[in-house]
Amino acid sequence: MKKHNFNSGPSILPQEVLQQASEAVLDFNGIGLSILEIGHRTSWFVEVINEARALVKELMQLGEDYDVLFLQGGATTQFMQVPLNLLDKDAAAAYCVNGIWGDKAVKEAKIFGNVNVVSSTKDKNHSYIQKDFSVPSDNVYLHYTSNNTVEGTQWHTTPNTNLPLIADMSSDIFSRPVDFSKHSLIYAGAQKNAGAAGVTIVVVKKDILGKTNRNISPIMDYRKHIEADALLNTPPVFAVYVSILTLRWIKKEGGLVEMEKRAKERADLLYSTLDSLPVFAPIVAKKDRSLMNATFTTHNKELENLFLEECKQQGMIGVKGHRSVGGLRVSMYNAMPISSVQALVDLMIDFNRRNG
Ligand SMILES: *Cc1c(COP(=O)(O)O)cnc(C)c1O
Repeated sequence: MKKHNFNSGPSILPQEVLQQASEAVLDFNGIGLSILEIGHRTSWFVEVINEARALVKELMQLGEDYDVLFLQGGATTQFMQVPLNLLDKDAAAAYCVNGIWGDKAVKEAKIFGNVNVVSSTKDKNHSYIQKDFSVPSDNVYLHYTSNNTVEGTQWHTTPNTNLPLIADMSSDIFSRPVDFSKHSLIYAGAQKNAGAAGVTIVVVKKDILGKTNRNISPIMDYRKHIEADALLNTPPVFAVYVSILTLRWIKKEGGLVEMEKRAKERADLLYSTLDSLPVFAPIVAKKDRSLMNATFTTHNKELENLFLEECKQQGMIGVKGHRSVGGLRVSMYNAMPISSVQALVDLMIDFNRRNG
């Protein structure tokens, strides 16, 4: 029986995407070859990558001044590739640090230039988002993490800045309408909300490129990828295909407006239950709670293990918190049906009655 999948990433995908992907592994569009067997420069795959790039722009309502790439190396490689392309040695970039991913982005950026941590929420274990801060006007960009997968916080407004804005949207991309055009660069590992592991979506406004004095290795240079129409070398063909199936599904279901509506329904159900049951304690400040990843604890550690055991018995997977923070975490990405959240909520209510 299919499990209730609360994994943080790689994570749940729509059932019909899995079905279509598995069919393409055997026979891609009836051409008599598997998607795994065709060259990336064939018209079959060129059509796929071009549709994928166009769909990303369509969902984000972005124009000709942006380009879309499907790169390898995960969001973690973007922590390095962003400053490599944009930050000169004697220049400075501003970073908001709201969790472990932002922290890692800072460590990479420091290798290339100067970093101003303009906002950090470390003082309270990243259990909130700090939105009031100032950024030196000579900084070359402002970087933030739109959704903190591990800590369970999310920016519900876009940071206000005159600088080029850069976002790691790995865990909430395509989950809601955002004013994407306020951003100069957006990146996201696909494995949380946009497909399979192995591909990273990078959306870049072309006017920010080519301004550093650094000699950039061609494979790390966004401009080289753009010049090569996103086919500088072999892209992860199958992962790109799973992304296009996921993007088509999002569009067909009603786009980002519908994704946000569903995310709010799921999150409202879960958080209102958490707030009403004395056995459980949500970790994050109410106004900053993530619609994608909910973090919470039980008021004693033994109950936590007991609860996890009961989740497991009922086929609910991925409820354990990230190893760096502990506690419990429930991830509710685009493809999660409300029925899975309802099943979890029913268990929580029953668990509270027995252990409260
Ligand atoms: C998962 C995640 C990452 C790391 O992604 P990789 O693809 O493993 O490199 C970075 N940032 C955020 C916000 C994430 O959720």
